[in-house]
Amino acid sequence: MDAMTCPQCQSDMTSHVRGGVSVAQCGSCEGLFLQRVDRGTLIERENEWHVSSGPTTQPIPRILPGMTPPPEYAAVQQSRSYLDELFG
Ligand SMILES: [Zn+2]
Repeated sequence: MDAMTCPQCQSDMTSHVRGGVSVAQCGSCEGLFLQRVDRGTLIERENEWHVSSGPTTQPIPRILPGMTPPPEYAAVQQSRSYLDELFG
């Protein structure tokens, strides 16, 4: 990406590589410019990140003799959200 001038404040923009794509950032107002194809790449990477950072599914354990029963449900109930935790 060639040197660019910020369309917002006319300062020089510096190119950086972020997440594998080239992004120009204004040194004054911190505005960003990226190519449309790179925007699509960043959206795909964010979606992949959400999928990989989500909860993992554990296999259901086999019931074996000698297993201890789980604690009462209320004792292990977890918040479903941050707000639920704050105000629940
Ligand atoms: Zn600017």
